[in-house]
Amino acid sequence: MNPNWFDRYGRNDIVDLKQYGFQSGWSSQSAYPGSGGTLLHELGHHLQTMMYPGRPATAGPLSVYSPLDQRIVDVIVRELGLKAPTGGTTGLSAAGMTKLIESYNNQARVAELVSTYGSRSFEEMFAEIFQEYATLGIDARPHIIRIGEAIIRLAETGKL
Ligand SMILES: [Zn+2]
Repeated sequence: MNPNWFDRYGRNDIVDLKQYGFQSGWSSQSAYPGSGGTLLHELGHHLQTMMYPGRPATAGPLSVYSPLDQRIVDVIVRELGLKAPTGGTTGLSAAGMTKLIESYNNQARVAELVSTYGSRSFEEMFAEIFQEYATLGIDARPHIIRIGEAIIRLAETGKL
């Protein structure tokens, strides 16, 4: 959704680029390989800002260094089979989770199980997972469905 793209490319080129992104694994799988997929990816970023323990829904964005809700960290680490240090993942922030993705060959695993773009950071991984879950529903990959359901339960009820 970068407006600079419109200066560099025509609209149809942008649609072609986005479709290539979905087909090549750059982006997670999608029922809407166009701007609809991008919008749901961006909604995933919004939902990720809700994944902090005890955070009121109306609170402003928290720092990428604030500890994440351990429940969603546990679901993601388990469902993606991410390797973690012996000290575990307790108290990790989004920045800490990005470091975890970059360690222990986890980046290749996230690229395969989510998307290449999602392997860049925790925030992009989260948004990519949500995009696939939100657009494909029961046709999403099983681990994506389990994480997506956990995201929705936590965002809607504050409980898993
Ligand atoms: Zn993003």
